[in-house]
Amino acid sequence: MATDGNCSLEFFPPKSSAGLDKLLKKTLPALSALNPEYCSVTYGAGGATRDTTVDTVTAILELGYDVAPHLSFGSDDHAVVESLIRGYRDKGVSRLVALRGDLPSGVGSEQPLLHASELVTFIRQTTGDHFDIAVAAYPEIHPEAPGYERDIHFLKEKLNAGANAAVTQYFYNVESYFYFVDRCMSAGITQPIHPGIMPITNFASLQRFSAACGAEIPRWITARMADFADDRESAYAFGIEVVAQLCATLMESGAPPIHFYTMNQAEPVCTIARQLGLVKGGNGYAGDPALHQSVA
Ligand code: FAD
Repeated sequence: MATDGNCSLEFFPPKSSAGLDKLLKKTLPALSALNPEYCSVTYGAGGATRDTTVDTVTAILELGYDVAPHLSFGSDDHAVVESLIRGYRDKGVSRLVALRGDLPSGVGSEQPLLHASELVTFIRQTTGDHFDIAVAAYPEIHPEAPGYERDIHFLKEKLNAGANAAVTQYFYNVESYFYFVDRCMSAGITQPIHPGIMPITNFASLQRFSAACGAEIPRWITARMADFADDRESAYAFGIEVVAQLCATLMESGAPPIHFYTMNQAEPVCTIARQLGLVKGGNGYAGDPALHQSVA
């Protein structure tokens, strides 16, 4: 994966046309000050956002950004996924993020989900070297992994299947990332492992999501957040300070460009980027108060 830009930015496909409008006309223009290498667009569990992901990818592409759609087999057969892959290629998309994905909550399946390595193989079989493919990596280990070294073994398997880079699950323990990268290198992985960074905005929902995806929130952060109780402004400022420091440590260490989980909000990432000096001139933020509210 080329590393010309400062970072990459992840968005989810908005559910409404108002949400898409806001993403295209406010959020993205504000974030463009970061000079992103590419924007990625998530794919709902089990293919739940198939159409909205394609629509969002197409709209961002038309604005001139490099876009990486996320993709998984979910419960779809190979023909459906092949048509999505070929459709993206025909639109001029040159990147994909290949995942196993999860099932939508509460939905069981008799068929096991196909692993990301199988999707990488399938993409290479159908479209050769056309796509630059990224896969997911877990510095604190995927919750279903049979063990630390086994998870790295499976990461290596999907990279060996033809992926160009990995992007990590978010983390707040920087040592977990450094140790993980070290172990990956010892295992013979040579592709870049981009740190995935999630700004801390809504702490209660971050706690719920982190419990489900196996990302640890350090006790000291939880304790400090508890001090702020209903003081949302101080909690927000503390969240920015913690994540900006995390990013600064990563950048000083020479980590590959950061992948920001934007949650479709411009302000937190812009504020962090400004503190990191990733935004030259101005404050890197359009300053529209509407950007504080997330429109789904
Ligand atoms: P895999 O690489 O297939 O691994 C899943 C588990 O199986 C791991 O525990 C691994 O150790 C194990 N494993 C791998 N290969 C084998 C094998 N051959 N045999 C046995 N075990 C194996 N989810 C979404 O629904 N939509 C998204 O858009 C999305 N985007 C994401 C982006 C990033 C950067 C990250 C880090 C995660 C994203 N996720 C997304 C979440 C992801 O789908 C889940 O974490 C999912 O549970 C695992 O996906 P994976 O691609 O890592 O799976």
